[in-house]
Amino acid sequence: MKESNYRVVPLPTEVAENARRTAHAGASDHAYVTADSPTGYPCRHCLRWAQPGEKLVLFPYASIPPGRPYSETGPIFVHAQPCTRYEATAEYPADLRSGRTFRAYNAAEEIIAAEPVATSDPESVIAKLFANPETEFLQARSADRGCYTFGIIRA
Ligand SMILES: [Zn+2]
Repeated sequence: MKESNYRVVPLPTEVAENARRTAHAGASDHAYVTADSPTGYPCRHCLRWAQPGEKLVLFPYASIPPGRPYSETGPIFVHAQPCTRYEATAEYPADLRSGRTFRAYNAAEEIIAAEPVATSDPESVIAKLFANPETEFLQARSADRGCYTFGIIRA
C-alpha cells in the first residue's frame, strides 16, 4: 500500500451514466467522438486514455457549480461504453502524469493558486498546493486546453 495524503476524485459514476443516456437520447450538447490518438481523449471516469477507435461521449460538465463567481462548465469525455470508475484513489493516475495543470481552490470555491505539472512529478505539486491551509481542493486540468480532468482532495 502506498501512503499518500491526498485522494483522487474521478467523475461520479452517476454523471458518466447520465451523459451516456443523454447522448443516446440525441441531446444537442452531447456528441459521440471516436478517439484518433492514444493520448488525446482522457476518460474522466476511469482516468485512462481512450485508445484509437474507442468511442466517447463529449459533454459539458460543471466542475464548479453555477451561482458562484468561479462557476465553470466545460467539455469533458467519458467512454461511451460502461467503464470502471478509477479505484486507486490514493495513487496518482498513471496515464495522466504529464500534460496537466493543477488549480487550488479555497472553501468558497475560489481559485487561489495554479501550477503546471511540468516535471512529471505531480505528487510534489499536490504537496506544495496543500501546504497552504487555505487550499480546500484541487482540480487537475489539461495544461493546453484547460479542460477539467479530475479532482483532488485531502486524505
Ligand atoms: Zn472510461
